[in-house]
Amino acid sequence: MKKIWFLFLITVLLFSTACQSNGTIKVNSNNTSTNPEQDKTQSENTNTTTVEPTKPEIIIDKNANENGKIMILMYHGIGEEEKEWVRTSENFRKDLEVLYSKGYRLISLMDYINNNIKVEAGYTPVVMTFDDGLLNQFNMIQEDGINKIDPNCAVGLLEDFYKDHNDFGRAATFYVYYPVPFRQKDLIKEKFEFLINNGYEIGNHSYDHPSLGKIALEEVDKQLAMNVTSTKSYVPNYVVESLALPFGEAPKGDNYKHVVSGSYEGTEYLNKAVLKVGSNPALSPNNKDFDPLKLPRVRASELKTEGTGIYDWLSYFEKNPNKRYISDGNPDVITVPSTEEANIDKDKLSGKELRIYDK
Ligand SMILES: [Zn+2]
Repeated sequence: MKKIWFLFLITVLLFSTACQSNGTIKVNSNNTSTNPEQDKTQSENTNTTTVEPTKPEIIIDKNANENGKIMILMYHGIGEEEKEWVRTSENFRKDLEVLYSKGYRLISLMDYINNNIKVEAGYTPVVMTFDDGLLNQFNMIQEDGINKIDPNCAVGLLEDFYKDHNDFGRAATFYVYYPVPFRQKDLIKEKFEFLINNGYEIGNHSYDHPSLGKIALEEVDKQLAMNVTSTKSYVPNYVVESLALPFGEAPKGDNYKHVVSGSYEGTEYLNKAVLKVGSNPALSPNNKDFDPLKLPRVRASELKTEGTGIYDWLSYFEKNPNKRYISDGNPDVITVPSTEEANIDKDKLSGKELRIYDK
């Protein structure tokens, strides 16, 4: 009997340790990274004891809202002069600083649509995208005969920021078109491999950037399949899984399905996510209206944004914190206030536990 009590106590202790690390809010803390595996291991270990523990009391983070909105930021060029579709290196760095200090953390587009959000408790995920595969997004320069990433291109700036802020995360999707993504013909493979090996994604932006709403449907299939064939010619094992619509345009009505899947001359394409051009934050993947095939993006610019740019939405979330996705720190548990319960798609939780707290 004494032994059973002892095991029970150990179990309770282990569980309460796990709960504390999950349930505490840590906005603006300097902790370097989440370690969800640690908690998981602790929970698994407790399962090996013979005593069935009473369900531990979970301290629910009163600020968590995993049905809040998530920004998918849309960038184009990074250059010396700020323009409608160009951000200067200084402004891009400012964006990273502001996002970081306001508690945003990078996640990949695929982790977002697969509902595999692993940011620490109290933080908000943000997705970053770059369209057009421009040289100033990923430029290599030669130094002493060695290829180096230009510190002022998007990848250089992201890498530099990550070096000093590991906990910000390392992710972005680059939507490229052909024939020369990133505009250095001999370095395409090297750049693609760097991206894939360092947490970035390569997306489909058609073969040569026509408006997919203005060409024949067979041409749409050809444009999207040829992008996939071309990317695979450099990185054969890479699966292109998302599309950013050139000019934000697509075939109408039932023909929209051509941007989702199709084939041309034996190459098939299947987009799990399709991104539009404007102009508001996207729904949580837990939301009943979440549609990964029609995802809105937020323009990461301060020019001509008409109230829908990155800074407009950042201040919107400051004023409306209840609209912002705030993580509970545990990717296997979905935590929402009771006010959001009706907006959750319970059929899509795929084994995740849903926790609702009163608000
Ligand atoms: Zn484009």
